[in-house]
Amino acid sequence: MISAILRTVFGTKHERDVKRMQPVVAQVNALEPEMQRLDDAGLAAKTDELRKRVADGAELDDLLPEAFAVCREAARRRLGMRHFDVQLIGGMVLHQGTIAEMATGEGKTLVATLPAYLNALSGKGVHIVTVNDYLAKRDAQWMGPIYQALGLTVGVIQHEASFQYDPNYVTPDVRMTALRPIERREAYAADITYGTNNEFGFDYLRDNMRFSLDELVQRELNYAIVDEVDSILIDEARTPLIISGPAEESTELYFKIDRIIPKLKRAATIVEGKLSEIEEQKAGDFIVDEKAKTVSLTEAGIASCERLLGIDNLYDPQHIDALHHIQQGLRAHSLFRRDVDYMVKDGEVIIVDEFTGRLMPGRRWSDGLHQAVEAKEGVRIERENQTLATITFQNYFRMYGKLAGMTGTAETEAEEFAKIYKLDVTVVPTNRALIRLNSPDVVYKTEREKFDAVVADIRERNEKGQPILVGTVSIEKSERLSALLKKRGVRHEVLNAKYHEREAEIVAQAGREGAVTIATNMAGRGTDILLGGNADFLSKEILRKKGLDPATAAPEARASALEEARRITDPEHKRVVERGGLHIVGTERHESRRVDNQLRGRSGRQGDPGSSRFYLSLEDDLLRIFGSQRIQGIMDRLGMEEGEPIEHKLVTRAIGTAQKRVETHNFEIRKHLLEYDDVMNKQREIIYGMRRQILDGASQADTVAEWMEDIAAATLDGYASETAHVEDWDLAGLGEALHRQFDVRIPAAHYEELGSRAALDELVGEAVKARYAEREQELGTELLRALERHEMLIVIDTQWKDHLLSIDHLKEGIGLRGYGQRDPLTEYKKEAFDLFQDMVERVKGAVVERLFKVQVVRDTPMELPAVTAWARTQEMRGEIPGERPSGAPPAPASRVPATPRTPTGEKIGRNDPCYCGSGKKYKKCHYLQQR
Ligand code: ADP
Ligand code: MG
Repeated sequence: MISAILRTVFGTKHERDVKRMQPVVAQVNALEPEMQRLDDAGLAAKTDELRKRVADGAELDDLLPEAFAVCREAARRRLGMRHFDVQLIGGMVLHQGTIAEMATGEGKTLVATLPAYLNALSGKGVHIVTVNDYLAKRDAQWMGPIYQALGLTVGVIQHEASFQYDPNYVTPDVRMTALRPIERREAYAADITYGTNNEFGFDYLRDNMRFSLDELVQRELNYAIVDEVDSILIDEARTPLIISGPAEESTELYFKIDRIIPKLKRAATIVEGKLSEIEEQKAGDFIVDEKAKTVSLTEAGIASCERLLGIDNLYDPQHIDALHHIQQGLRAHSLFRRDVDYMVKDGEVIIVDEFTGRLMPGRRWSDGLHQAVEAKEGVRIERENQTLATITFQNYFRMYGKLAGMTGTAETEAEEFAKIYKLDVTVVPTNRALIRLNSPDVVYKTEREKFDAVVADIRERNEKGQPILVGTVSIEKSERLSALLKKRGVRHEVLNAKYHEREAEIVAQAGREGAVTIATNMAGRGTDILLGGNADFLSKEILRKKGLDPATAAPEARASALEEARRITDPEHKRVVERGGLHIVGTERHESRRVDNQLRGRSGRQGDPGSSRFYLSLEDDLLRIFGSQRIQGIMDRLGMEEGEPIEHKLVTRAIGTAQKRVETHNFEIRKHLLEYDDVMNKQREIIYGMRRQILDGASQADTVAEWMEDIAAATLDGYASETAHVEDWDLAGLGEALHRQFDVRIPAAHYEELGSRAALDELVGEAVKARYAEREQELGTELLRALERHEMLIVIDTQWKDHLLSIDHLKEGIGLRGYGQRDPLTEYKKEAFDLFQDMVERVKGAVVERLFKVQVVRDTPMELPAVTAWARTQEMRGEIPGERPSGAPPAPASRVPATPRTPTGEKIGRNDPCYCGSGKKYKKCHYLQQR
């Protein structure tokens, strides 16, 4: 109440934020005439001038008005787009390291150029992060002319290739226009680098598995602007990036277990956390909890498994694997549905992101679940993998010196952005007022009735020519609706977020007269839906129909095609506007309100007319699992007839409440994941930090000396404890141990003269130092320093890998251990810490031992066998195992090349026709270039 009054007096926080920026907008505007007077060269020269001022110590904040004015002028000249004032505000919000909430169609792609230009002036690089490769490429190609006019370089990171924006580069592939292939490292060295969250994250992990500085591709993580930030930092934050390699374990067991799963009977399903049904169902084998996504065996179930597997005690430690596999097998069979949670494509199980409906090739469920699903589907089981490097998006993006984001929907998640990423959200006003009409939800009793109503609505509007975009929660639902529409003869397109590039072309025309487009959530995201159609896209189609290649066609041909396209789209635009603009149909409420808002936001852009309505049924997952009782109650009270929908504020509110509960629940899951990753994160920082120092070539002599002392002290503690009597010292054992560790022999007579531990410490310390000094004499200082770095690197990597395997198992174990009296996270932290300590001790011991033992061939050339040379040998032997499980990049030339892919990530065979459309075989065309 009070806050409502304050709001009316002072405006919302967002309004105040925006108001504060108005004077700066005025400054940028005031600079405009001056910028317009400059010729192109004069404008470009501004960059050097500004760069110099930054180098001389000027603050970026102080240069903002001028830099924005320069960038705006370049955009006006090169793209014919002059940043609107609200876009300047968006740019400022991004520069401050905040999230700008800007509706769909407000031109966020253009907005990002302002802070990108300003921040690139420092020369430390700016990353612009997109949700898929297609958008990274498109945005770089689209905005490239601005940066190019201002003398900035632009890199593009794609799944298996890297490019530089270069308008003079000629390629037969339309889609790759102006993209010159370059080394990944060069793409990162560019002033501005476009790429996806996955690629940036994996490149980071891979860099930390390299053996020499010149193999690293990334520079410091200076500033990132994350587009569709909610999708990347929230929806995707539940699945960390993992680089894994094969571990030594057989996959036979998965199939063996999979064969018994269908023989087990479900005892009960827990809905809404209600456990009461279980007692009555003693006969069943397992209980499914849909909400928690867990399955547990009953007493009877344990007995059944023992009988089926022919073992007498499933809980015997030797059967721990079987038990774990059974649990995952049950989950795979009862909780994970084909075409909803995953798809099977080319013999591979591919995860479908539950939030976005997007396919996630390369990602795998952990903990053996993925293998269990593979067994269920009868496809080849990937060998059990172990983690070699992993990081959550939360921890990756927190490493940037400055982080900013933009999206149409951030406010509902403001709390999470603030708590996890320390990112505030500022809502930027729209350029034109929003006039979309959002109708209240209608709820049907059954899904069938709901879909009938959806089809009726679509047909009615379609007959009038109004374009319709239908959102679904899964590919399965899209296909179901598609079949219904086909039966009624309604022409439509279906998008599954599978082929981003092709789908972008389709969705660009979703605003045409009579268009019906069915799309899962992420499908076509990032592409503008213009009412009456997109003339640019259409002109390309026209060219192709005339047998011309849009990339190479003469400018006159292109201009005339565009004109022809305009002659179609302009009047069509008018007609579509008259019919009410784009109509959005939601076929189910999503678990998160934000995702629903995304769908709605596709209509009503830039002041366009538009409308939206969601159709729901009591059989929808959200209502069934999370809100059924309340809603059912309301429905009963209001009285609901078969076939008749209900449209009532109470229902809408109850659904909103259910969504909020799920959102909170999902936030908890992400927080939980992060709490676990934070433990790892500290350890990762220590190890990666050490690796980095070693790669940088810093002398490790001091560290080694320290480690020797530590090891010596520990050895002494073992044989000549301070608390023990001098007579009880095991001097013979000590002598052996010292010989093993340090290659020193101390004559027995020397020991006998000693009366105290302090004296012994000194004697041993001196002997070890002397022996090491001898090594230095033998090998030469330079060689020894190199050897130190080399041995440390090898030992750290081996031990770290081993540690990660222990951590994998620890996580599993903590999960199985159940609740007991203890908090699993506390347990995990404690044990992970102990494991890490043990690992560090092992590293010290092994490094020191190796430094005294390793034989270096004398008379090698005077040039040092540098760390890099040894390291490469390592790599070639494949001792950095399997680097590319999850969407990884080009392997170094020395390794067996992975399945080739097109720049958009689709697999392509060497004998297939090249993706560029040249008609040549791939191996004769772009294959050569990509290598
Ligand atoms: P968003 O990412 O915010 O949804 P886009 O970046 O895809 O929006 O841009 C939407 C459309 O708005 C594009 O067609 C773009 O050309 C257009 N646009 C953006 N800014 C301007 C501007 N300042 N002047 C003219 N058109 C603009
Ligand atoms: Mg966009």
